[in-house]
This record gives sequence, structure tokens and C-alpha cells, in this order.
Amino acid sequence: GDVDYKKDKKFADLLSDKNTAVSEFARKKTMQQQRQFLPIFAVKEQLLSVIRDNNVIIVVGETGSGKTTQLTQYLHEDGYTNYGMIGCTQPRRVAAMSVAKRVSEEMNSELGEKVGYAIRFEDCTTENTIVKYMTDGILLRESLRESDLDNYSAVIMDEAHERSLNTDVLFGLLRDVVARRQDLKLIVTSATMNADKFAEFFGNVPVFRIPGRTFPVDVMFSKNPVEDYVDAAVKQAMQIHLQGNPGDILIFMPGQEDIEVTCESMGERLASLEEAPPLSILPIYSQLPSDLQAKIFQKNKDGVRKCVVATNIAETSLTVDGIIYVVDAGYCKLKVFNPKIGMDSLQVFPISQANANQRSGRAGRTGPGQAFRLYTERAYKNELLLNTVPEIQRTNLANVVLLLKSLGVQDLLQFHFMDAPPQDNILNSMYQLWVLGALDNTGSLTKLGRKMVEFPLDPALSKMLNVSVEMGCSAEILIIVSMLSVPAIFFRPKGKEEESDAMKEKFQVPESDHLTLLNAFEQWKRNSYGSTWCTEHYIHVKAMRKVREVRQQLKEIMDSQKMDLVSCGMEWDVVRKCICSSYFHQAARLKGLGEYVNVRTGMPCHVHPTSALFGMGYTPDYIVYHELIMTSKEYMQCVTAVEGTWLAELGPMFYSVKDTKQSRQERKKVAQASMTKMEEEMKEAESQIKARKEE
Ligand code: ADP
Ligand code: MG
Repeated sequence: GDVDYKKDKKFADLLSDKNTAVSEFARKKTMQQQRQFLPIFAVKEQLLSVIRDNNVIIVVGETGSGKTTQLTQYLHEDGYTNYGMIGCTQPRRVAAMSVAKRVSEEMNSELGEKVGYAIRFEDCTTENTIVKYMTDGILLRESLRESDLDNYSAVIMDEAHERSLNTDVLFGLLRDVVARRQDLKLIVTSATMNADKFAEFFGNVPVFRIPGRTFPVDVMFSKNPVEDYVDAAVKQAMQIHLQGNPGDILIFMPGQEDIEVTCESMGERLASLEEAPPLSILPIYSQLPSDLQAKIFQKNKDGVRKCVVATNIAETSLTVDGIIYVVDAGYCKLKVFNPKIGMDSLQVFPISQANANQRSGRAGRTGPGQAFRLYTERAYKNELLLNTVPEIQRTNLANVVLLLKSLGVQDLLQFHFMDAPPQDNILNSMYQLWVLGALDNTGSLTKLGRKMVEFPLDPALSKMLNVSVEMGCSAEILIIVSMLSVPAIFFRPKGKEEESDAMKEKFQVPESDHLTLLNAFEQWKRNSYGSTWCTEHYIHVKAMRKVREVRQQLKEIMDSQKMDLVSCGMEWDVVRKCICSSYFHQAARLKGLGEYVNVRTGMPCHVHPTSALFGMGYTPDYIVYHELIMTSKEYMQCVTAVEGTWLAELGPMFYSVKDTKQSRQERKKVAQASMTKMEEEMKEAESQIKARKEE
């Protein structure tokens, strides 16, 4: 039978303490004691009284003081759940899930019942849920349906100092909601940064500071700039470990790849030493499967030291107890709009001073600690920014524009942002939406645009799904979109590269990675969605199950939008054409032997080695790509061969049949003119606002 994927309790099961020897009674008792030991507990009554007297308050406290796990429970105990839910937003999925799990245990309820969480494509709540942790993106989408958030009696915007894109948009929206709803409590929490700015934004609301209880941390800088931070971090951690003093280690790395290399290299070094005491090396990053993520919270077995290797997720979102040593590589990955490629990309940047101090602080939670910064004091003082630039000022805003437009914010310059995004960003995003057909020449939502907003997807994917209905291949595109919405499907274990590559080749459709994904799913379906089949074919079974779940959820939205599921059978050219209809702005042309250049910019770009089109001797004249990733080179990931004529037909603002330089310039002119027109209208709107303000 079909499994109900909507209620994913597997995460909960994996985390459960069923296999520990501690009695239920002892566990609960210690949990209550732990709660009472948190700094926030000491000020509980004062805090609740400030909340009773004010509709909006800012709560500031060190990481680990109990804001995320306790505030919701305090509000519940104070009766706020009698007339609505308590919602708590998190910028990160991992935090939403793991904190919900923790709080459900503290409240002695099964995860998904009284306490639940919701992240994109995963709703672990029921009608009984009174405390709901969710990503900020989820609450933002909920505001589309319920602009006053009537289901909630209190909303906690947690981790506001992170200034994530969605949190920043929520700031603007919630500011109006609290003005309309006198019965809603809004609590904004921050880890010691930006509090006054938040207070001012909401009209000089009170700031409540939780007295900290932290231990001193010795901060050590590197004497000379380090050449290889992974290598330096491994050496530093090994040195700490071999010295033999107790305490766990936390290493900060910019991203998954570096974390993997660090863990591996540390494992190898450990294995090469005969007398080395055991060390439990635990990676954590957002794409890590949740059962492995949960391991960082488990108690050290037999006193084995833990070494957690994390992204900035461990900076403030998740508190790992017992950390005495922090090793900070000094970098993080940030999403930035890259004008060269005309889209966002994740790039490695030096952290800010605020980040650096948060990271060091993690060593002083349980006792005096030590922080090793793998950069010089000079670099810290002269090269690091004081604070990270908020996401809203550095990324593509296409999704935000689409959302705000559909919320009736006609003029984005009028929207009350805490820090307004640069006008160029807004215009660029509007331009992209115009190219996709979501906005018309006046910058208003089109019929297509309105339908696109319904899907929790990037605009291009949303468009593809919408267009696929008319093109007669929505059944296929739905699977492809679902496959693209989960982390990697194929795995390639060390030492089994050849076997796994050979297996993957079985699925490969020479002209398209998208079709390869479709093919893999179809074959899995033909094999009764089996898990053994997955393992045999080096495919992540969990990822595939997630695909089914995502597919089901998108299908429900399609149903509600009266979008039919139609199949093109084996006519996969139709599918390729549909892909082209939404990705024509990301096209590359063959130039020379196996070399591609971006059709619009002329910039060289390379087919990613994991692609079906890589090194197969098949080099179509034109391809479109799902995304560009920047490593040593610019790689196009997930590509599909298309016809030049399709590009001309589907992306007329860019291409003509005879792609001569002149006609391309003409296209560019048309596009430019349209953008200028939009710009003028926005300026016009701006002057109207000014005039209105002066009145
Ligand atoms: P804050 O939000 O102020 O940083 P939290 O409420 O997240 O603080 O953390 C309070 C305490 O709860 C910390 O000691 C932390 O270790 C513990 N905690 C939080 N999440 C978990 C979890 N998933 N498992 C075990 N302990 C947790
Ligand atoms: Mg927190």
C-alpha cells in the first residue's frame, strides 16, 4: 500500500531514547532540572509580565540561554495557546526540526502532536498542535493565505539577528499585522546583536535582556595567515585531542565539502596513530540526513570526546552542550547575487567580526574555554566586516517580489523594509520575472505569475510546472521538479566509484540530466518503489521517498489549481521543450570542441562531470542548465540538450532564429527598453509616495 508520507515521524523515531538504559522517570526529572538551570528560567516571571503588557517585544540573550526552547513553553503555560497557536520561526530547517523534537520531549508529547514543525515539503503538525516551529519561509507563505495570521496568538521570530531574507520580509509584513491585531503577541529574539535596531523598527518597543551566564573564553589568533584552513583545523583539533584535557571540540567550516574533507582527514590521522584515544567525529550541515544530524546531541558514550564539524549552523541556531574548544576557520558560505552569471550563487566569504565572536562564545557555555581562530588578529581587525550584510541586500529577490506582488504590494519601494534592498536588485528580479512571463510590462502580476505564486518553488521551476500542462507533459515535469527539489539522488561511495558510475549509466539519457532523473524515478516505480533496488543502484532511498512526498504535495497544489496531470508517454522531446520554455535564459552554445559558452554573455562554462552529457562524445549545439555552480570553474549542473529554434521560439526577448550579433542586440534593446519602462514607473510611484508623505 501507499505510505502516508505527509506525517514524517521517522525523524522522531530516529532520535528517540528507546535504546538508552535511563528510566523514563529519571529522564524526565533531569529534563525538568535542565530547564530550570537555563538562564531564561531565572527571569521567567518578569519576562511574562513584560509580554502581558506589550504586544511587541525584543528578547536578547546569549546562545544557549533558552530562548528557542523555553519561550514557546512559557507562553503556553501562561495561557496563550487557549486562543491560538504559538509559532516560532527559524531561518534554518535543521534548527526547526531539532528544536521541535527537543521541546516535544520537554513537554512530554510525541513530535507532531502538541509540538510540531513545518519546513518546505514536510509538515509534521496535526490539528492538536499548539506549538509550531517552522522556517521563516513557511510563515511567509502562510501569510499569503491568512494575511492576519489568525491561527496564531503569538509569533516568535527567532534568530532575527541572522537577517535571513524571509525574516526581513516578515518584519515588514508583521509590523502591519500587529497594528491590525491587538490580540497578537510578537516576540523578536536575537543573540546579542541588532536589538535596538529591531526595537526602533517596531516603534521603540521594549528590549528584554536575559542575564547571561557564560564563562571566559581565551581567544587565540593565528600568528601567520594560514594557507589551508582545512589542514590547519585538523592539526589544531588533533593537538587539542592528544593533549588529553577533557572537553568537546567544535570546528567551524564554510560548507559541506570542507566538512567532509576535514572529517575524513581527521579520521585518517587518528587511524595512523597507534596510541590515540578514540574520538567521535560528527559532521553537521543542512543537507546531512536528519538521523546523522541528531547525533551531535547524543551524549558521549564511555567518555569518548566529541568533535563536531559544523557550518555556521552551530553559531547560534543549535546549541551543542559540552563544547570547551572552538576552532574557527574564519569563513562561511553566503548566497550572493552574482551579476556575472545573472543569478545567485553560494560563495565562500570571510566571516564578520560578529560571527567570529559568536563562534568563540560557543566554547564558554559549560566552563572556561578556548577558541582558536585560524586567522590573524590583524585580519580580524582590518579585513572582517563588523556585521554580515543582510541577505536581502545581496541576493536575488525574484521570489520575494512574486510573493509581495501577490500580497497586493504593488509598489515595492513603498514596502517597509528594515533595510531596503538596492533598487537594482529589485529591478533585476522584476526583469527576471518579466522574462519568465510572471510580470507584464507595467510590473503587475500576470495570470501565469499568479499561478506561479501558488507553488513553493523557484520561479523557473514553478513556471515549468505551469507550462507543462498545456504542453501535455505535466506528469513527467512534476517528477522532474520533485527530483530537483531534494538533495542528491545518486551516491558515489569511496572505493566503489566504478561500480556506482556503471549503475548510473544504466539510467542515463544521453541528451538530458533532467530526463535521466525522470528515468531513474520511473524505474524505481516499476520496481515497486523498493529500497533494495535503490541500494543496488547506488541511489539514496530516503531521498527518493522524499521525492514521492514532494511530488504528492505539488500534485495537491496542482489539483487545487485545476491543473491536469497529462503524460506525453515516451515522447520525451516534448519534455525537453518544456524544460527549454523555462530555462531559455540559462542557455549555452557549443563553441569549438566540447566547449560551451553562455549564449547571452559569451562567458565560457563547462558541463559538470556528473552530467549525462559529460565526456560521452555527444555535444549538442545548444543546452540549457538548471544551475551554475562556481568551484574552480563555472560548471553547469543538470543540463538538457535543446534545439536552437526552441530558444528563439520560447525566449524571443533574447534570441532570434538566426542568432546574428545584430539581432541579439535588437533583442537586448527590447529587453532594455522594457526594463527602463518599469524603472520609470517605479520612480513615478516613488515620487507619488514622497508627495503623499509631504501632504
Ligand atoms: P537559545 O535559543 O537561547 O540559544 P536554546 O533554547 O536553543 O537556547 O537551548 C537551550 C538548551 O537546550 C541548551 O542547553 C541546548 O543544549 C538544549 N537543546 C536544544 N536543542 C536540543 C536538542 N535537540 N537536543 C538536546 N538538547 C537541546
Ligand atoms: Mg535559539
